[in-house]
Amino acid sequence: MDVSGPMVRKYLRQFVAEPKKKIRLKKYDTARVPYKELSTESDDEAKTLLQDLLDKNRRELARAQDLLAASGQYSILIVLQGMDTSGKDGTIRHVMSGVNPQGCAVHSFKVPGAEEHAHDFLWRYEKVLPERGMIGIFNRSYYEDVLVVHVHPDRMELLPSAIGPGNTGFWEGRYKDINAFEKHLVRNGTVILKFFLHISKDEQKRRLLDRLSNQEKYWKFSFTDIAERQYWDQYLVAYEEMLSATSTGYAPWFIVPADYKWVARTVVAEAITSAIEGLHLSYPVFPEEKIRELEEAKKGLEQE
Ligand code: AMP
Ligand code: MG
Repeated sequence: MDVSGPMVRKYLRQFVAEPKKKIRLKKYDTARVPYKELSTESDDEAKTLLQDLLDKNRRELARAQDLLAASGQYSILIVLQGMDTSGKDGTIRHVMSGVNPQGCAVHSFKVPGAEEHAHDFLWRYEKVLPERGMIGIFNRSYYEDVLVVHVHPDRMELLPSAIGPGNTGFWEGRYKDINAFEKHLVRNGTVILKFFLHISKDEQKRRLLDRLSNQEKYWKFSFTDIAERQYWDQYLVAYEEMLSATSTGYAPWFIVPADYKWVARTVVAEAITSAIEGLHLSYPVFPEEKIRELEEAKKGLEQE
């Protein structure tokens, strides 16, 4: 059986990294505003229109999630990646604010611990995949295992030298493992949506300065963000290689212009709602016998 990817609204396809195509991130404008689609040229109007769309999507998402849970057939896995300050946390907060917390689980992956490093690199992610009927959000993911550790191989788990990152084809092997893992999930009823929140280096500088200029945002600031910023170009190379190798028809990457948060959040919300709606789910239909039993139960209660 061939596996098929998420069905998303047509205009969203422009954000999808075309499978098997070599991705050059320079060609993707981080500050893009979809003026044409919105039929406007004004920033203020675009912002208002996109915020309205986000509100509409929040409502639709709440309904789509209810249907997802009621039908209990599919699960949704949302993967969020992006440089530090790219807006992963804010996107989760804004996009998911209308959904039932019981139908949704967010997992934020940090530096792996000893137990995690003692297993294969997919182990810690596999353990927390969403069950049928649920939306699972990975704030960072197994893609860190071909990103941060690609830039800093010393932060990787210790592998025997014969199979470690010093060998040619090591990273290609990881991409293949990821593609196979995702294919397995899709074949078993998981819809996978992957978002790369693409910001410019200048925008990151602005956001870091904002955190350093506002006492209430100090807690968000991390010195490692400044240290990692020095590796910006190496990260871009790692991202390009990863996006080129792992955007597939069944689990596509969306390259989301993220310099404007109101653009990024709406694109992500649109993609999620349209993918769930594309499943054409329906509430379970009960057989007549069951309906009679339910009616009997109702009558019994009313006569109490
Ligand atoms: P934050 O998301 O800002 O809380 O930071 C989490 C940190 O964990 C980031 O610096 C990531 O690079 C790091 N991290 C996440 N996953 C991995 C991984 N698999 N291997 C090494 N570092 C990771
Ligand atoms: Mg951080």
